Amino acid sequence: MSARTAQFDALPTASSRRSRRDQAAGTPGPAPKPAAVKAALVVVGLGLGVSVGLALTAETRAEFSAAGGPAIFIGSFTGLVGTYLALIMVLLVSRIPFVERVLGQDGLLRWHRGLAPWPISLLIAHAIFITVGYAQAAKNGLWREAGVLVGQYPDVLIATVALGIMCAIGVVSLRAIRRRLPRERWWLIHLYMYLALALAYAHVIVLGPSFVRHPLTQLVWALAWIATAGVVLGYRIGLPIIRTMRHRLEVVEVRPEGPGVVSIILRGRDLEKLHVSGGQFFLWRFLTPKMWWQAHPYSLSALPRPPFLRLTVKDAGDHSGSLASLAPGTKVAIEGPYGAFTQHAQQQPRALLIAGGIGVTALRSLLEDLPRRSAPVVIIRASSEADFVLRREIGELVHHKRGELHEVIGDRNQARLDERALARMVPDIGQRDVYICGPEGFVADLVPLVKSLGVADESIHHEAFAL
Ligand SMILES: Cc1cc2nc3c(=O)[nH]c(=O)nc-3n(C[C@H](O)[C@H](O)[C@H](O)COP(=O)(O)OP(=O)(O)OC[C@H]3O[C@@H](n4cnc5c(N)ncnc54)[C@H](O)[C@@H]3O)c2cc1C
Repeated sequence: MSARTAQFDALPTASSRRSRRDQAAGTPGPAPKPAAVKAALVVVGLGLGVSVGLALTAETRAEFSAAGGPAIFIGSFTGLVGTYLALIMVLLVSRIPFVERVLGQDGLLRWHRGLAPWPISLLIAHAIFITVGYAQAAKNGLWREAGVLVGQYPDVLIATVALGIMCAIGVVSLRAIRRRLPRERWWLIHLYMYLALALAYAHVIVLGPSFVRHPLTQLVWALAWIATAGVVLGYRIGLPIIRTMRHRLEVVEVRPEGPGVVSIILRGRDLEKLHVSGGQFFLWRFLTPKMWWQAHPYSLSALPRPPFLRLTVKDAGDHSGSLASLAPGTKVAIEGPYGAFTQHAQQQPRALLIAGGIGVTALRSLLEDLPRRSAPVVIIRASSEADFVLRREIGELVHHKRGELHEVIGDRNQARLDERALARMVPDIGQRDVYICGPEGFVADLVPLVKSLGVADESIHHEAFAL
């Protein structure tokens, strides 16, 4: 063991007499504020109402009853609402901290994906109805009118390109296609959404019937776009740069933990000011010539121990596999902390923590952060003893918190984690909060299982290691 990182091993153990959250672990992550998210939802709802109102009031009776009037009206209405929803989709993935702390990244992505078909469908409807309406007004054929709109109005041409990009992103995001693409390629394609929105902007303001001759509407809408761009740039680029510069993390040691699993220990400045809760994760960007362009999510496998941080990674592919050969001194950029898989989510006094495979990383730091009164029952599922990494630390923490540890080790068909086994290990499961962490399939199997044993939805918290 390196003498430089020896201090990192001094984690809370059975013998330590520390306060609930060791002072050396730095500042706890702030508690989520669901009321603030509800208020934000009200604002978003009001914005949608205003958009609908604008579309309705901008239309005069004469315009509506003219040739093509109803189709143009439907076209501008669907365009306005579709664009508004597209901005909301962007905001959902802009990593606004107070929203992220309540909904978590996976919750936000669920909303983002659930909303996605609406803006795209509404914008396609917008293009069709506007073309039909103008064709009726000009007594033109549909294709001829489409040619006129695209050929004579540069803003429409640009917006058509934008719609094409959005549709392509929509197709690529279909689950069946997304799963076949390397994650980085899918992510790069997804970034084109920002370009599409920027391209669409001008034609909305310049040509939208709700905007032409309505300077106040133009101003309000422009402010909404600028605010969205500001939020995205601030939280996705600005804040990570500031945090990276402030904490100046670098690799000090890569330590083997088990088959294909390494812990990476980083040293940084001012880590006591990094507000982080156990169970949270960062997006890590290791600044080597081959890896600097990829940011991957890995949980902290222990609370910060200033000046050190630790993550523990299993080789699951290109990026995770290459971390074993990181050289000491490698600089690291961070985004985060993210995640709602924390002690703040706890509803009941006691807790049950279940991890499958490498899910022990988030469980380990969450366990460290849980109050002793949680009397945590911890269940670890691993395919072999060697695969149960961080075993000693977890055992010590469980002992320290006066909890119970159950190890379910072996082949899935023999060492089963089913309803009967869970009910036997945790007879009071219905009176506990249940935290589940691990590979996507493991989490998907466990959530219905604990529900069937009487755990309320709001007491089930999970972090699947795939987004
Ligand atoms: C919130 C969260 C916390 C995680 N914490 C840990 C941890 O503490 N330790 C650990 O070993 N692993 C953790 N993971 C999983 C880890 O992010 C992936 O194993 C890793 O990114 C795989 O990348 P790769 O290039 O090595 O493999 P690839 O072959 O590219 O991918 C393997 C699988 O990992 C998933 N994946 C790949 N890239 C990403 C990405 N950027 N974001 C989300 N999922 C991705 C995909 O589902 C893919 O099927 C976590 C994942 C998430 C979402």
